[in-house]
Amino acid sequence: MAEYDVDLFVIGAGSGGVRAARIAASHGARVMVAEEFRVGGTCVIRGCVPKKLMVYASRYADEFADAAGFGWSVPAASFDWTKLVAGKEKEVTRLSGIYRANLEKSGVALVDSRAVVEDVNKIRLLADDRLISARTILVATGGRPVLVPTVPGVEHAITSNEIFDLPEMPKRILIVGGGYIAVEFGALLVRLGSEVTLAMRADNILRGFDEDMRAALRDAMVEAGVTFKFGTLPSRIDKTEDGLVVTLANGAVLDVDQVMLATGRDPNTSGLGLEKVGVALDAIGAVKVDEYSQSTVPSIYAVGDVTNRIALTPVAIREGHAFTDTVFGNKKTEVDYIGVPTAVFTTPELGTVGLTETEAREAYHCVDIYQTSFRPLKATLSGRAEKMLMKLIVDGETDRVLGVHVLGESAGEMAQLLGVAVKMGAKKADFDATMAVHPTAAEEFVTLRTRAARYRKDAADMA
Ligand code: FAD
Ligand code: NDP
Repeated sequence: MAEYDVDLFVIGAGSGGVRAARIAASHGARVMVAEEFRVGGTCVIRGCVPKKLMVYASRYADEFADAAGFGWSVPAASFDWTKLVAGKEKEVTRLSGIYRANLEKSGVALVDSRAVVEDVNKIRLLADDRLISARTILVATGGRPVLVPTVPGVEHAITSNEIFDLPEMPKRILIVGGGYIAVEFGALLVRLGSEVTLAMRADNILRGFDEDMRAALRDAMVEAGVTFKFGTLPSRIDKTEDGLVVTLANGAVLDVDQVMLATGRDPNTSGLGLEKVGVALDAIGAVKVDEYSQSTVPSIYAVGDVTNRIALTPVAIREGHAFTDTVFGNKKTEVDYIGVPTAVFTTPELGTVGLTETEAREAYHCVDIYQTSFRPLKATLSGRAEKMLMKLIVDGETDRVLGVHVLGESAGEMAQLLGVAVKMGAKKADFDATMAVHPTAAEEFVTLRTRAARYRKDAADMA
């Protein structure tokens, strides 16, 4: 009889867990996965995928308005939130079904249950109170929205978990936070017709992104109709017959239909039983792991948002795969976190890979900036006041491209491909040697001849 019921028990069928389970099964491991909500996890059910569908929906507003400049007469358009939500639901259900089928086809046993860690090699399935023994346990439980600020009436607020399924589109919404989720929903809801206000503690959106991109995106959002309240947060939320009344710490009072908190996400470790068996957690409750995703208990590993690394789907998937290759594929594999490209799916979109100007100037002796801002061809006839912004950050000593940032249409698509060049160590000369594709916006990256600025540290600065 086998020593354990399974070789691998995965808690959580999201991006990281599903990848790990399928690859482990392909290596011949006996695998069981438990999912307490819906197979596919945050990204498929209430993250990347439904969000992008809503972004697409929102962009029709601009397309209808722009069409006139190209000769079209478009009758007044109307938008049906219920129809969008139903379409979204159909698609995520289809995708979840595919994830489920693929797991089953791979020979993975899938259990619809919350699972908790009972011992270093034991899992308890809460649905039927079954105990399963496993040689290795993978914690892939993801994250959950943080409910801050904890002010009176915060229970009236929603998070990104609820926004996707609201029975009605909020006519007026206050979004709290200035990160990825806040700006993405701000930009999409304003186009769908909501009156959108964003309140945040900082003095600008998207901390950590390149300053020029932050400023230009903020301005574009203002142009689209978003109202910003910087340096202030709600101090109370009161429910009335007409909706919610929010009092901000700066004294302003807003009447809205919904308040959405988008103030970050915490790792899903509470009540999992990890500390009890000796798994060390960090200050925010994330599982502490080494470069192979192993926790402080040798039989327990963790990947994805439940660890405090980079909270993006492709990263969770890569971590799940690397873990499986290491433990079941006889191939020790670390994940490389350098130069992870990312996109913020606002309108305009923001794509980025590598260092920001600030980071480069701190770390390098000589930094060259190449930058351009222009009106895209489409905006000439549409008449839209739209600017595309592109920026290359180059090491002035080696000519290596350290960072690429783009704000405008298809920025996410560009970031993906520019990510390859940056990862390969491309030099500015390689960009210059690449023939342009004309007429595109991306061609500007290979025709940036004039340096906008050079920042050189003297020896004293470097000491
Ligand atoms: P998850 O995908 O969250 O999966 C964890 C799973 O574990 C969940 O299904 C959960 O129900 C389950 N679970 C938790 N506890 C238990 C338990 N005890 N027992 C059983 N099951 C359990 N990333 C991008 O790269 N691009 C984007 O455009 C993007 N957009 C996003 C938009 C939003 C609104 C949000 C919230 C996130 C977005 N992300 C995006 C981030 C991305 O969704 C996450 O980084 C990714 O899903 C992390 O994968 P994971 O496997 O770690 O966790
Ligand atoms: P972010 O980390 O992007 O932003 C969090 C926001 O909340 C920031 O504005 C932050 O302010 C603010 N904040 C944090 N703590 C507090 C607090 N205690 N009080 C008040 N404000 C606070 O998180 P999100 O929730 O937007 O998204 C979670 C993660 O999901 C992202 O970090 C990203 O990794 C992933 N994601 C990726 C997407 C993509 O790839 N397109 C889309 C959506 C999510 P400050 O700046 O001052 O710290």
